[in-house]
Amino acid sequence: MGRSIIVVGAGLSGLVAAQVLQQHGNDVHVLENLDRVGGRIRTDLVDGFLLDHGFQVFLTAYEQASKTLDCDKLQLGSFESGALIYFSGKLHRVADPWRSPQHILATALASVGSIWDKLRIASFRRRVLQSSDQQLLKAKQTTAIEALRQEGFSEMIITRFFRPFFGGIFLEQDLKTASGRMDFVFRNFSRGTAALPQGGMQAIPIQLANRLRPGTIHFNKTVTAIESVESSRERSCATSVVLSDGSKLNCDTVIVATEQPAANKLLGVDGEVVAKSQSTTCLYFAVTDPPIREATLVLNGELEGPINNLCFPSFAQPSYAPLGQHLASVSIHGDFLAAPQEVLDATIGQLRKWFGPDVDRWRFLRSYRITHALPSQSLETLASSSNNQDSNCNTGLVRPGVYRCGDYCESASIEGAIRSGIAVAEEVLAGTSSCVA
Ligand SMILES: Cc1cc2nc3c(=O)[nH]c(=O)nc-3n(C[C@H](O)[C@H](O)[C@H](O)COP(=O)(O)OP(=O)(O)OC[C@H]3O[C@@H](n4cnc5c(N)ncnc54)[C@H](O)[C@@H]3O)c2cc1C
Repeated sequence: MGRSIIVVGAGLSGLVAAQVLQQHGNDVHVLENLDRVGGRIRTDLVDGFLLDHGFQVFLTAYEQASKTLDCDKLQLGSFESGALIYFSGKLHRVADPWRSPQHILATALASVGSIWDKLRIASFRRRVLQSSDQQLLKAKQTTAIEALRQEGFSEMIITRFFRPFFGGIFLEQDLKTASGRMDFVFRNFSRGTAALPQGGMQAIPIQLANRLRPGTIHFNKTVTAIESVESSRERSCATSVVLSDGSKLNCDTVIVATEQPAANKLLGVDGEVVAKSQSTTCLYFAVTDPPIREATLVLNGELEGPINNLCFPSFAQPSYAPLGQHLASVSIHGDFLAAPQEVLDATIGQLRKWFGPDVDRWRFLRSYRITHALPSQSLETLASSSNNQDSNCNTGLVRPGVYRCGDYCESASIEGAIRSGIAVAEEVLAGTSSCVA
């Protein structure tokens, strides 16, 4: 057997790292705080509806994720490209003319932006398609909002389309996210579709977990500290993981694959590296007669009300609702903070304004408030990270025998988490910090 390796966290990055390391003959154990895998990708079955913990989609253009996962087995169901945007009392369509030619006329007439804006979208798309993900993520950056202005987009299309579209992805409306993140997302939306697995988003981590040897993942195990063990004659270094019940597990290598705030605490860089989080709330309703009978994202093109975007996932993936019913998924601005009942009332009030009194027949199923949905990817946060040696996460090595990985090390996405898991496993295999004597 190779090295003994403990992975802390059974989210995508931890599962992928564990898989690669196990395939190379190492003795790998994954310790997970919760009672199931997936981390930020979990799905509940409620009254026959599949409810993801916050609305999210798999982009079929993700290069590394598509290679790592068996996408055929996920039986993906796709959303339409483009979006419907609510403003001035009705919905306006923005279609992707290359992939939804049937909607091109509606797009041309939509008062979402000027004809120049539409031409600029085409050149924005051309530009991002000419580069790779990594080139876009590493290019010289400004904020997303500044980049859109530099591309020449009007304030009208920024308010009506880009703010709710990218704001819904980065979970922040000011678009202070680094422009390379926006380019990465736009490239992946331009090259494929947004899709949902038949088994809900959780089918993605479950597929990865099923590739690990039985007994690899240990649930309800909370790691509270990571300690170095005195070197002995047999080993040049070794590490110990402390659990919440006080027990200790020794190993050669630890990989911290938790979300960034938990990682910073475990690695002792809390305070030195500020882990800012983007939050969101998602509300689900059972609907028998949806006002929109298509798998299209609906964006709030007005700067008012709690709703950022909504959709009916069961048109993209019928397994999300029982036969004869549909699921409505409504995502709320991350900074709309209120008591759950207040959020529900304000959301229903806005839905009623958009779709009329039929909304009163929608049955509320459940809401999810996710405090750390994404790490902040603002230009400011990324710039302060790269000035700080400890937080430069493009390398997974933190100190001898201790590594980290996670979406915050790459890009806050399924693709980024998977890439990071593979990268850290390769680094451990390369033995840059071997603890073996
Ligand atoms: C609402 C929402 C919408 C999103 N939308 C999209 C989208 O549309 N497309 C996209 O590509 N990405 C999206 N994402 C991002 C994507 O889900 C994440 O980037 C990815 O899942 C992160 O994986 P990870 O392995 O880095 O971390 P996590 O999934 O957070 O995994 C970390 C794991 O560590 C465990 N853990 C933490 N502390 C401890 C401890 N002390 N001891 C033991 N275990 C511990 C946690 O329980 C968790 O299981 C979204 C995320 C959210 C929440």
